[in-house]
Amino acid sequence: MPEIKLSQAFLEKENKMEEKAGLKIKLYGDPVLRKIAKPVGRITDEHRQILKEMAEIMYDDSGIGLAAPQVGISAQLIVLDIGDGLYKLVNPKIIKRQGRQSISEGCLSVPGVCVKVKRAKRVWVQAKDENGCLIEIEAQDLFACVLQHEIDHLKGKLILDYASFLQKLRIKRKLAILKTKVKACKLLF
Ligand code: ZN
Repeated sequence: MPEIKLSQAFLEKENKMEEKAGLKIKLYGDPVLRKIAKPVGRITDEHRQILKEMAEIMYDDSGIGLAAPQVGISAQLIVLDIGDGLYKLVNPKIIKRQGRQSISEGCLSVPGVCVKVKRAKRVWVQAKDENGCLIEIEAQDLFACVLQHEIDHLKGKLILDYASFLQKLRIKRKLAILKTKVKACKLLF
């Protein structure tokens, strides 16, 4: 009997690995990127698995942040790492903003496009960690920028929405040939 259990566990593991191969970055034009992501109720192993795979995809693609809609999952889950360690956040919410900053941002879902986005310099974010514990993060500069970028993804908002009319005209041509991949931006999230 234990033998059967072992092989079942093995099969489950194999299935999970196949699922992982199915999680891919969704590109501009995919409707999931424009949907408002659903808040997560009870955090389950499935959510923890998704967060783990999102982090792997983010690192594989040299990104510094990733939101679940970017891998086709319309749920309020984000991961980020600007070099100070990995954050996995559930239902993140900005509760306070302060100051202004402007950084050229790229997005893993809009390759080849950079937009200078005006954002708050400092933000306070409330979220749950992957175990369901409530946490509050005080972030500034790049960290604050990435948090705002990822939380935008959960609202269906993209860096393109911050572009000026003239910028949009310039970007339009790039978007038309998005799949051929143009030059990459330095900061991708
Ligand atoms: Zn993005």
